[in-house]
Order: sequence, then structure tokens, then C-alpha cells
Amino acid sequence: MEITEIRVFLRDGQDKKLKAYTTVTFDDCFVVRNIKVIQSTNGFFIAMPSRKVKLSCSKCHFRNEVGSKFCNHCGASISVQDASRKTEDSKSEHRDIAHPVTKEFREYLQKKVLEAYEKETGSSGSSEIKPSEDDVADIIPATEDF
Ligand SMILES: [Zn+2]
Repeated sequence: MEITEIRVFLRDGQDKKLKAYTTVTFDDCFVVRNIKVIQSTNGFFIAMPSRKVKLSCSKCHFRNEVGSKFCNHCGASISVQDASRKTEDSKSEHRDIAHPVTKEFREYLQKKVLEAYEKETGSSGSSEIKPSEDDVADIIPATEDF
């Protein structure tokens, strides 16, 4: 499977860790939106699109955000077990919607997305990174500094 297009949407919000959203096309026929570029102390990495896991109310089956104490629909109290687990296991609130199964493909995807991101920001300081000229985001005109 090949990545045929990556569109980069830079974020300049308050969340300094989230640098960009990308939309990635595979084999010209399958698109995954909202793959995020995250900056950590160890450098950039990508985060796959995810959704918040919801808890169904045992009484009315309304789906509430994880961590809610009471049902937003009927007001019944929601399992405290799940609420107390929230702090130590907060990442499990988000489940990936789509993600690579193999390590190889994950590395390939991350490499391509980060290349596209660096090209978009024009901060390709690393000489080993050579983004392909085709198919990279055409929304913002590239600045030619070199
Ligand atoms: Zn309810």
C-alpha cells in the first residue's frame, strides 16, 4: 500500500503539542482524515484519528462522555468504577478509528507524514529528509528559501 497524497493543515492554536492535522490518501482510493502531528520532547510523531469512548447509561442507554458522573439524559448516576480509572488510564478514553497494523507500515506512514509536515513548515533542517515534490499539500504555497 502506497501513500499517494498528504495534505497538511497547520495548527497555531493554544495547544502547542498539536502541530498539524493531515489528510492522507492511500493508493489514490482511500482517505484517512485527522492524522495529527504531535510534538513531544523526543521529537515529532503522529497520532491516528481517534474518538472518545462513550459510556452507556444503564437506565436509558444514552451514551455519555467517559468521566461523567450522571447521565446527561436521565440524570441516573454512572458507574463510579470507570470515573475513578480515568486519571491513571486517561488515554484509553480515546480509541483509534483507523491505524496501521504492522510496525513497518506505521513507520512508513509516520515518515511520510512528518516529511510532508516539515515541507509545509519549511523547516527541513535535516538533510536526510527529502520529501517528494509531487502530491504534497497544495493549499498553502511553498516558500522557496533554498
Ligand atoms: Zn440515562
